Amino acid sequence: MTTAYIALGSNLENPGLQLQRAVDDIDSLPEIEVSGCSKLYISEPVGPEGQPDYCNAAVRVETTLTPLALLDAMQSIENDHGRVRTVRWGPRTLDLDMILFGNEVIESERLTVPHYQMHVRNFVLCPLLDIQPDLTLPSRKPVEELLKEMGTSGLEVMAEKYPWL
Ligand code: ATP
Ligand code: CA
Ligand code: CA
Repeated sequence: MTTAYIALGSNLENPGLQLQRAVDDIDSLPEIEVSGCSKLYISEPVGPEGQPDYCNAAVRVETTLTPLALLDAMQSIENDHGRVRTVRWGPRTLDLDMILFGNEVIESERLTVPHYQMHVRNFVLCPLLDIQPDLTLPSRKPVEELLKEMGTSGLEVMAEKYPWL
């Protein structure tokens, strides 16, 4: 059993509901159990301008899956939510990013863990710290330090508790 962290994002088709459903979809898989969930946030988009604000959250999961099998499961949930891949960082119904997988450092063609941009994304760092305030990277650096370096600009809490609607 491994503890992993997944960041969720959506800015299309009722984002709050997309994220709530995604948490339920993740939890409903037999090999994955959701053991913690963050607050719900609103953030300004990165990438192409003119797209709607994002809803963001994170979950902690306990899983017996390998990292690649977990990625497969996450991508199949994205597809079930009607994710269409057009422009890079463009608007989407659901984005699931694997942020941490135990203390593993993974650099393969399909998977980079810890997520390569987590340290500059307060909409990832803040939700992680809701779930686990003393969370550390495989390098042992506290996630709290990353958030102090990054700051919380552009980020607002939308709801305190799951379910958010
Ligand atoms: P970003 O990765 O900058 O957040 P994105 O989420 O929009 O951008 P996607 O189009 O969702 O990018 O994913 C592109 C590819 O990234 C996926 O097909 C997947 O193989 C790869 N990938 C690498 N590392 C990870 C990870 N930690 N979590 C999810 N996908 C990853
Ligand atoms: Ca992403
Ligand atoms: Ca992604």
